[in-house]
Amino acid sequence: MSVATKARKLGLKQRYALMTRGLGWETTYQPMDTVFPYDTYEGIKIHDWDAWEDPFRLTMDAYWKYQSEKERKLYAVIDSFAQNNGHLGITDARYVNAIKLFLTGVSPLEYQAHRGFAHAGRHFRGVGPRIACQMQSIDELRHAQTQVHAMSHYNKYFDGFHDKTHMHDRVWYLSVPKSFFDDAMTAGPFEFLTAISFSFEYVLTNLLFVPFMSGAAYNGDMATVTFGFSAQSDEARHMTLGLEVIKFMLEQDEGNTPIVQRWMDKWFWRGYRLLALVAMMMDYMLPKRIMSWQEAWEMYFEEAGGALFEDLSRYGIRPPKYHEVAAKEKDRISHEAWGIFYNYTHAAAFHTWLPNEDEMAWLSAKYPKTFDKIYRPRYEQWAKMKAEGKRFYNNTLPQLCTTCQIPMGFTEPDDPTTICFRSSEYRGERYHFCSDGCKDIFDYEPEKYIQSWLPVHQIYQGNCGGAELGQVLDWYHINQGADNLDYDGSPDQQLWDKWMSDRKKAAS
Ligand code: FE
Ligand code: ZN
Repeated sequence: MSVATKARKLGLKQRYALMTRGLGWETTYQPMDTVFPYDTYEGIKIHDWDAWEDPFRLTMDAYWKYQSEKERKLYAVIDSFAQNNGHLGITDARYVNAIKLFLTGVSPLEYQAHRGFAHAGRHFRGVGPRIACQMQSIDELRHAQTQVHAMSHYNKYFDGFHDKTHMHDRVWYLSVPKSFFDDAMTAGPFEFLTAISFSFEYVLTNLLFVPFMSGAAYNGDMATVTFGFSAQSDEARHMTLGLEVIKFMLEQDEGNTPIVQRWMDKWFWRGYRLLALVAMMMDYMLPKRIMSWQEAWEMYFEEAGGALFEDLSRYGIRPPKYHEVAAKEKDRISHEAWGIFYNYTHAAAFHTWLPNEDEMAWLSAKYPKTFDKIYRPRYEQWAKMKAEGKRFYNNTLPQLCTTCQIPMGFTEPDDPTTICFRSSEYRGERYHFCSDGCKDIFDYEPEKYIQSWLPVHQIYQGNCGGAELGQVLDWYHINQGADNLDYDGSPDQQLWDKWMSDRKKAAS
């Protein structure tokens, strides 16, 4: 008898099972509940962890192979963008401000997602979700790194890119995205996946990625476009994980349904509020527009999301609470958000400007019911003040919503001319909110949100470098007179105009 046996070739499915499920085990030195304390305390009941389906069946060796291939292509494009002075091919230097907002507001979230998925993955006793989280954790680290590399070229020429991590932790408007992720990461693992994988990646991600990536393409920013393509195939996996975790929870136990519904309600609203920054980017910050925020909301949430929630209705899931409020607000939040930033541009690390005549005509056409009536007169007034040398800056600090941390500039669902205020009392203190959605979130877990690091409160308590605006900006690491204030007259604008006039001279 021969001892040499031919190595058996395994099918993809068997190989995958051995390399993932086969690596899990029941612990014996310590009970499983002690090793995995967090996957039960949220109240989610799982009876069969093996029912978790991995649609991609991606092994680690295949993963590294695919990803390194993508990296090679991406870095070739980024290098050639830099070597060919790609920044000179963008539509207008105002565009770069959208990228500043992305780098300081979104790229740090990729890093937080990296940490969050590593943490959540550690705390699932089931191998399926653990593997999915592990791969997503590595993807997110890659996204953070490749975004920094893709955008680093702009840092050589334009202001506001020099200290994204420091700014993310301190600057007032960046506490909006930061607090969103802090909230998710301090929740249990199932809530984290519902927040990030489902609500953000599955339901809302198109509203972030499509505008930024098409915006980049329309405005000649090939470095950012290529990053977007490189991340897209990862996104497909992430979205699938989002839907899988929801179906898994809903199929495992009927008692999970109300918990999942409450998380969907909460994270829809938090995600939607965060997207106010994207709304204003689409309608105001892209010199060449793709579509309006309202059109994007209709296409990606009302149509695509509508079909999704119809599909989930067989589990007893209904569309997220207050989605009808979002529908009422779709023709105003971009204008309200841009108004806030125009008021506080002296304290921001990017520039703002008043829309020009062509841009106002576009806004009138896209927002026929609201723009000419409510927002155009406001811009005309600000333009008049500016012409008189009285450019309007708001010199008092705004009240912030305790939940989303956005200044109170949103309006009543049924009245776009009245600011929406809500409040709750908890242990003798009063807390303020921008909406019923944000108030509900607080009321359900007040102990969590009374700990919120609200930038305005922190400034008033003396924790942000001092009592003067200049001291706070120093503490933010904002280069005053360069990073902040109007685009008109900024070093960015002067440099850009010089390049463009040099180019004209060279051509004539
Ligand atoms: Fe990502
Ligand atoms: Zn709010």
